[in-house]
Amino acid sequence: MGATLLAANVLTDRLLRSWLRCRRRAWLDRFGEADQRLWTAHRTLQLDDQQRNFVALLPRKPGRGLAACRQGEPGVVGLRLKGIGPAGQLLEAHPALLQRVKGRSRWGSFAYRPVIARHGRRLTREHRLGLAMLGLLLEPFQASPVSEGLAVAGAARGLEHERVAFHGGLQRQLADALVKLAADLDRSEPPALAADRRKCTLCSWRGVCNAEAVAEGHLSEVSGIGARRRQMLQELGIDGLHQLAKADPVALGNRLKHFGEQHGEMAVELVAQARAQRDGRFERLDSVLALPELTDAPGVLLYDIESDPDARDDFLHGFVRLLHKPDGSWDLEGANYHPLLVLYEHGEARCWQRLQRKLAIYPDWPVLDYGETESLALLRMAERQGAGEQELAALRKRLIDVHARVRRHWRLPLNSYGLKAVATWLNFRWRQVGVDGARALLWWRQWRGSGPSLRGSTHALRWIFQYNHDDCLATWAVADWLLQQDQLLEKEGLLEQDRLLERDQLLANKKP
Ligand code: SF4
Repeated sequence: MGATLLAANVLTDRLLRSWLRCRRRAWLDRFGEADQRLWTAHRTLQLDDQQRNFVALLPRKPGRGLAACRQGEPGVVGLRLKGIGPAGQLLEAHPALLQRVKGRSRWGSFAYRPVIARHGRRLTREHRLGLAMLGLLLEPFQASPVSEGLAVAGAARGLEHERVAFHGGLQRQLADALVKLAADLDRSEPPALAADRRKCTLCSWRGVCNAEAVAEGHLSEVSGIGARRRQMLQELGIDGLHQLAKADPVALGNRLKHFGEQHGEMAVELVAQARAQRDGRFERLDSVLALPELTDAPGVLLYDIESDPDARDDFLHGFVRLLHKPDGSWDLEGANYHPLLVLYEHGEARCWQRLQRKLAIYPDWPVLDYGETESLALLRMAERQGAGEQELAALRKRLIDVHARVRRHWRLPLNSYGLKAVATWLNFRWRQVGVDGARALLWWRQWRGSGPSLRGSTHALRWIFQYNHDDCLATWAVADWLLQQDQLLEKEGLLEQDRLLERDQLLANKKP
């Protein structure tokens, strides 16, 4: 019993990391139901990235545990550090890596400093405080001061080293964070949902939290409301989706203007979006065709890229070739998928040539993608590869962002206008359940291995292709729906024209 109580009170480096991302997450890590956790590829990707960075940093495989410290190994893993925090808390941490540095420790004329792999472009508070906690526990362990930690990143492009000094300010921040973490873990109920719910996408508790957000009509459920807008609305006494939907948009706009003119202008849109979601209603925003370019197109290319953002590597350009039949229908049965797998080591020039050849086979076909990522990547590559003004203009004209067309012409009863949300709403189903870009990236890294002679299973490649193929088809599901709505609009327009013509004729016949 005593040991259990002790374990329950310990603040670990993992809990601190969770808490720094979202206070609620730390609470759920400790008290949440384990079977409600969802697997996320993100953590595995991070571990994979960490491994590659550490291999690039160290001259040889790290040693394990206390014995490795005694022997003065250049790198040490597998340690568990324990100690007491600034306010008397029980602390425990598992450093991912300790690196030998100059100094004097209990083991001889050397010491260690903690090392982490930095994920993302910049060092964050989470990285700094995580390192500081490791430093705090390492000091008594090695009986020597620890004045700094090291963050490494970018093994794929040349390892970056960033030293983090454990100055007084950072230590005070750590002490403060540990007190607040302990207080949150003392609560009987979890803290509120994160203000910025974008971070929930990568969190293993997203299933529980999304369900709660929907049930309580959380403001973040309204598409277009991020952390800042939510705070402003709360300051005005609007706490949830239903309250927002009931608000008078003009009066709300006037009140929101106090925070800046642009916020006032958004009120009409936010209230309308909240009402659409509350009522499950979709509506057209104008009477303009969403995809007029497709009316006479001989076919379309559906286009989707898979990327490794850390390596800045677009490794797969997937196309589906979809023919427009003479009777006006689209030949989905005969649609072919063409993946262009691009290996970094082959260089961008070769990739651009392959893409140019592919696009040249279908010169008059629009290229449909979802979101601006594909268009931007392709145009930037074309520019870097010296495409002329004429070629660039032709490419710009062909590229159609289906997401932008949805946003411009429609309001949907959805909390997100992303491909997954919109296509799922239209009953499109991906063949692989629960797969996302992070999982595809993980498969890619597993297949790529560490070189041509160390490739992983080709199953991984097949899964990536299938996922990418389905993203292309999902893009089509949305485009097809837009086209069907365009046809309805045209029919309504013709009916209206007929009605006006009839009325004019009646009036003309009545004239004496
Ligand atoms: S899903 Fe979001 S709100 Fe829930 S614990 Fe994770 S980050 Fe926090």
